[in-house]
Amino acid sequence: MIPDAEQANTGELLDNTPEDTLRLWEVLFGDQTGYLKTFTGEQARFSNPSARQNELTRVANRTWRYPEQAPPAAAYLIRQSNMRKDSYFGVHLYRSTGAGRLAADAVDLVRALWVDGDGAKVPAPWPLPSAVVHSSHGREHFYWTLEQPIPAREAVKLNKRMAVAMGADRGKAGLSTVLRAPDTLNYKRDTPELVTMEITGGRYTANEIDSVVPELPVVLPRVCPGRLATKRPPWAKHIKSREFDLVEWMGIWGVPAGSEVMDSKGRKWRLLECPIAPPGKEHSDGVYIGHHASGAPWFQCYHDHGQGYTWQDVRPIFQPGCYIPWWVGVVSKSA
Ligand SMILES: [Zn+2]
Repeated sequence: MIPDAEQANTGELLDNTPEDTLRLWEVLFGDQTGYLKTFTGEQARFSNPSARQNELTRVANRTWRYPEQAPPAAAYLIRQSNMRKDSYFGVHLYRSTGAGRLAADAVDLVRALWVDGDGAKVPAPWPLPSAVVHSSHGREHFYWTLEQPIPAREAVKLNKRMAVAMGADRGKAGLSTVLRAPDTLNYKRDTPELVTMEITGGRYTANEIDSVVPELPVVLPRVCPGRLATKRPPWAKHIKSREFDLVEWMGIWGVPAGSEVMDSKGRKWRLLECPIAPPGKEHSDGVYIGHHASGAPWFQCYHDHGQGYTWQDVRPIFQPGCYIPWWVGVVSKSA
């Protein structure tokens, strides 16, 4: 049932149950086994009126065995929501109980594709999504169940192609993405909105989706920023240096980016989790990633532990091996 805004505002307990979340997980994970991740946090503006919209505080990451612990995990998300926390779950399973949500820890095969429409809609000729979650008025998350699981990296490529073609949020196409759980409340705006869901139950082959979604626009080979910029292969001399695409990088490597924050000098995004926080010091406030007007990326955590950390330190946390010189790969391939 959909409560009216009054009811949500007065903090009465909603008539919400974990059933929809459990049904959604069935659509996404099918008979897969692994570890499910949940992420919850409270809008920082509840305790600090000057906090930015959707800046979360008191964040909690939890790991659950799937499918055994799916019912308690879904019930936990509803409880957290009733305690005025925004409730999210990881859109694919993980291989271990390790802390955080590392792309490298994703299960090898995924059962479903996902797109955070962020207001964009699925074009009519495309397969009808298997599940649609209405995260707030006019904004949906779309999921497509696959007949056969496909490698996670292939799924990310398809997600990204769909997001780009739709004009959706490219930053949520990658591994490690979390999206809102149905039947929880979205506290981003002053009037909380109930997150609702529809399931059509459609199932598609990856080929069916691949055949209708346009390829990504062709771009010149990437030139890595920072340290690698000085180690370009000789044949790359004539390739015009291209601005590092931070949005794309965050999507590919599953960076938990929140909303874009206004910045006079370039673009910047809030991170939903600090990637360098020591155990017990996890936080989602005061941690940003962005790029200068020149295109050069930067990272900043304003907590004590963030002192001295830069983009150069944070990049390999998400993209292991990014500083291995280009010629190492060439040598090992030819060996
Ligand atoms: Zn930090």
